[in-house]
Amino acid sequence: MTRRFTEGKLVIASHNAGKIREIGALLAPYGVQVVSAGDLGFDEPEETEDTFVGNARIKAHFAAKASGLPALSDDSGITVDALDGAPGVYTADWAETPDGRDFPMAMTKVWALLEDKNAPTPRTAAFNCILCLAWPDGHDEVFEGKVSGHVSWPMRGDQGFGFDPIFVPDGHTETFGEMDPAQKHAMSHRADAFAKLVAGCFA
Ligand code: IMP
Repeated sequence: MTRRFTEGKLVIASHNAGKIREIGALLAPYGVQVVSAGDLGFDEPEETEDTFVGNARIKAHFAAKASGLPALSDDSGITVDALDGAPGVYTADWAETPDGRDFPMAMTKVWALLEDKNAPTPRTAAFNCILCLAWPDGHDEVFEGKVSGHVSWPMRGDQGFGFDPIFVPDGHTETFGEMDPAQKHAMSHRADAFAKLVAGCFA
């Protein structure tokens, strides 16, 4: 039995504007009042684990304890098969620069590594998402979502965020960056995990 969410208000344990926007849109139909960790002035905890689940738990428990409210975190990333699953858990790190995150640079690096390896096409990849809903008493529920596809070059589209401009989901020709947000929300790794969260905790 999973624990039901009954509090009516939760913290989105993220400082990532793209994730906050997408999770807010996914939660909207459930009449849940949301506030983000950034709005509450919380620091970002260090993501010291080497799995999506481990880091999702760190973020959700940190925000739940700090706020006294249930907190929902998202740990996600892109895993590229020909790169042995990289950047994976380190997807955001690949974009770090002294002046902030630079995703075009990170996407260029992914493509350059694939070219160096002469990786066969299609260059299969997946977006992975772990959602963790944690309560201030230390209980949590974890849900996993995935969407398979391939990486393509050059970057296309300015909807979405992060690595969206180079990811083409299976059965489509447009990148997530080119898709209407509603279309991405209907099929993304985040939507997949979210459907499981709803079934487990909100339904
Ligand atoms: P973290 O979960 O905060 O460690 O970072 C995950 C990173 O994965 C983000 O900064 C994005 O670059 C990338 N990512 C996660 N979800 C998406 C998505 O839906 N589209 C594009 N990039 C994503």
